[in-house]
Amino acid sequence: MSDNILSKTIRDLKHSATEEVDNLVKRMRQEGVDDIVSLGVGEPCFDTPDNIKQAAVEALWAGETKYQPTNGSFELRKEICEKLRKKNHISADVDDIIVTAGGKFGIYLAFQAVLEKGDQVMILDPAWVSYEPGAKMAGADVVRISTNAERGFQPDLEAIRANMNSAVKIVVVNSPCNPTGTVYQRSAIREISQLAKEYGALLLSDEVYEYQIYEGEHYSPASEFDHVITVNAFSKSHAMTGWRLGYVTGPKDVLKGMIKIYQHSTSCVTAFAQHGGIEALQKRKSDQAAMVMLEGYRERRALMIELIKKSNYLELRILPQGAFYCFPSYTLNMPSLDLSQSLLQEAHVATVPGSAFGTCGEGCLRFSYATTLEDIREAFERMEVFFKTHY
Ligand code: PLP
Repeated sequence: MSDNILSKTIRDLKHSATEEVDNLVKRMRQEGVDDIVSLGVGEPCFDTPDNIKQAAVEALWAGETKYQPTNGSFELRKEICEKLRKKNHISADVDDIIVTAGGKFGIYLAFQAVLEKGDQVMILDPAWVSYEPGAKMAGADVVRISTNAERGFQPDLEAIRANMNSAVKIVVVNSPCNPTGTVYQRSAIREISQLAKEYGALLLSDEVYEYQIYEGEHYSPASEFDHVITVNAFSKSHAMTGWRLGYVTGPKDVLKGMIKIYQHSTSCVTAFAQHGGIEALQKRKSDQAAMVMLEGYRERRALMIELIKKSNYLELRILPQGAFYCFPSYTLNMPSLDLSQSLLQEAHVATVPGSAFGTCGEGCLRFSYATTLEDIREAFERMEVFFKTHY
């Protein structure tokens, strides 16, 4: 059977480059390649804190094995409201929260609920790999606004203004940003919010890296604006990627649309996983564990920055302020996809090509420092040898 069986939209859809790298690494390992060092994966290197695991185990044994309300258990939504109020200065009612299977499903639901053919989604390039496919799956087009290292990958407000039009239905901001690590200035996010509002567009604020900030401060635009869809997740904050637990708040009408799609697709998030989420938000222990992780990332970040600075082949014009990635440019005259593939095949070092995040990412590689200090050192030793032999 040919792939003509697929819809045109899906035939044209790109795979997620980050998941492809991770899947390839896993397959190579399964095939016996046992010395791969991965800087590819966007996942915490820490395990979920024990108290959170324990809460889910207890919930499982207590019979928390049934369907839940589509928008999530009342208790979890209550905790999320508290968290949004205290940490993000967002006032949301329990009925204004939807618990989702990770941040990604929240974005998917929002796009599906709002977008249709003829609409545009504005994203800042380089951007996380799933915004564009998400918009396309909903039939919309994407307008990419370039950012660059010279300006710290901060949003170019002039370009955003110049490209705003009545077809733009959603503007996406992701701060701290994957892949660049940039924390957007509060004033810039505010201005983008205002612009979106003027044009009747929604702002989707993807805040999944809000706990990983080393310089600058986090700002949630929904603290001031009411046309904002805020997306967050426990994945990075509490090292819970495999739990598939996230949440969304936003305008009531948007949430209503999202719920309809949710009811006819996955119904709800796993019952006992939601108890892990409650523990993550309710207990000081969970916060303390998140802070320990943050210090761990800070140490890894410092090491990676030092190694990039020492390298003759890599350059980091702007220090990443948040998330757990460095996004250096390189001096080899080679497309980033070829470079990333060669590094994996020849040096057994996994990275993500910058081009996966958009044309502004070409000439860069994304390194995740969410791994051990030893692996970071080993990866850089191997990369230096690789670069030397290919230069
Ligand atoms: N948004 C960004 C910017 C991400 O990097 C990721 C995951 O890597 C997500 C959303 C999705 O997070 P989750 O694993 O909670 O679905």
